[in-house]
Amino acid sequence: MDTLEEIKCPACGKIMEKVFIKSEGINVDICTDGCGGIFFDNREFDSFNEDNEDVSAIEEKLKGKTFAPVDEEQVRICPACGGKMVKNTSKVNGDVVVDDCYICGGKFLDYSELNKIRAEYVNDNSRTDSAMEYLYKEIGQELTQIDMERARRKADRNLGQKLFYSIMNLK
Ligand SMILES: [Zn+2]
Ligand SMILES: [Zn+2]
Repeated sequence: MDTLEEIKCPACGKIMEKVFIKSEGINVDICTDGCGGIFFDNREFDSFNEDNEDVSAIEEKLKGKTFAPVDEEQVRICPACGGKMVKNTSKVNGDVVVDDCYICGGKFLDYSELNKIRAEYVNDNSRTDSAMEYLYKEIGQELTQIDMERARRKADRNLGQKLFYSIMNLK
């Protein structure tokens, strides 16, 4: 499922901004007017491909901005399908929480959670592999139940990598 229509942020209710990732030909939804969270629907995960690493459009939207705080404990409703999202905590990284929709495979990351990942890894290149493992577990895992192996590998290697480097490059 792809969300071509406007969707509301599951964390703060603001209309999310579609940010077109030119190299991938897809949109990601970023809460640029509210909390800074990012929503990836399942097709967006599947669409990231290996040959292009350009997530500058995401970086541009988040760089140097201050975002409204949100209640991260609140149960969120998937903006793509209306399902109740489930909070999953990273086993690798301790306390980074991702909202997962088990119905459609959508994922939502709070801006503060992105910052936690940054803080953990920004000055420690040797932990890149661990960060990749984290992103694999958090982002790639449920896709194995939803999609085929091919999609899972893409999500593991490519979206995780892209997201990770986009986070690392934020100023
Ligand atoms: Zn928001
Ligand atoms: Zn959903």
